[in-house]
Amino acid sequence: MDTPIYNFSAGPAVLPESVLRTAQSEMFDYNGTGFSVMTMSHRSDVFMSILYHAEQDLRQLLNIPDNYKVLFLQGGASAQFNMTVMNLSNGFKRVDSVVSGNWSRIAHHEMGKLSDVNIHLAAHGGEQFDYTDLPPVESWDIDPSSAFVHFVINETVHGLQYHEVPKLGADMPPLVCDMSSEILSRRINVADFGVIYAGAQKNIGPSGTTIVIIREDLLERCSSRVPDVWNYRSHIDRQGMYNTPATYPIYISGLVFRWLQSQGGVEHMETINTLKAKTLYAAIDNSGGFYHNRVAPAARSKMNVIFTTGNKELDELFVQESTTRGLRLLGGYKSMGGMRASIYNAMPLQGVEALIEFMREFQKRYG
Ligand SMILES: *Cc1c(COP(=O)(O)O)cnc(C)c1O
Repeated sequence: MDTPIYNFSAGPAVLPESVLRTAQSEMFDYNGTGFSVMTMSHRSDVFMSILYHAEQDLRQLLNIPDNYKVLFLQGGASAQFNMTVMNLSNGFKRVDSVVSGNWSRIAHHEMGKLSDVNIHLAAHGGEQFDYTDLPPVESWDIDPSSAFVHFVINETVHGLQYHEVPKLGADMPPLVCDMSSEILSRRINVADFGVIYAGAQKNIGPSGTTIVIIREDLLERCSSRVPDVWNYRSHIDRQGMYNTPATYPIYISGLVFRWLQSQGGVEHMETINTLKAKTLYAAIDNSGGFYHNRVAPAARSKMNVIFTTGNKELDELFVQESTTRGLRLLGGYKSMGGMRASIYNAMPLQGVEALIEFMREFQKRYG
């Protein structure tokens, strides 16, 4: 019997097998058109319909209100660090930025470039907690006159997640949220945010497209002085067709949305994801100290579970041996070392169970 392969990559990450099989079967001939999605015009009726349905299915899954626009852009989540500032800070003096881990630290650094606006450090999880806990929302230093508040809801590298969406109050600036590594993993109320963005390659589809969900009134801030390719309004005004969108990644993302619907939607994913994370953290915590995770329990990510034996050589051996058992890409982020199990929507519970079984066996041999 073949050993099943489980892919724990942080991104580009695991995709549902049925999605890849559908893409395979449609590779040469999409829906009787005689074309591959990869080789058809983005302005063809066939592709326009793929894009339309991808957006509608995403709207259904996240229950996106009508006063929000949806874009499938390029440039990754990283491009949004600047696009948000370029488009939303026109006429403002300050942007508030929460630094709680690797990605929000990079965002904070990048946001100030090509802009005169003051990127104010509203909170820093590093100084206080060494990124093992999150700066509590009550501690964020927010100015009501700021253009927006930027934060990362799930820190992919440090394995930290805000389990409650911050509530800032009615007079406060809109929340701009990097949701790359957790979008569609749990129910959220889109109306709590001004902007949500997410690179597709963590919890949605392949790399190459970034989803941006933006509240309509914020588009009034976009100045025509912002070049069209970086301008939210230009993309919206041209129905996402200002320039060639990443057609194939959008098509695959659309297949993933349909797969999510067939699984019972985000609500079902939330139940499974909670169970997967609970089971894995319990295995770490109950290993008698052989494995450990430094993150404060209330801030532990349900998507990216980091752990270590505390011994560099042993960690390397763990990653090496697990690979031969079909448990792939468990190495931690390059600067972090140790192990990281990314357990996104497409990772089944059986994958987590197989990992735990290997962890026990490894501990028996080396513990
Ligand atoms: C991976 C990641 C990014 C960077 O995404 P790119 O698409 O590579 O630009 C940004 N933010 C978070 C939270 C991520 O996990």
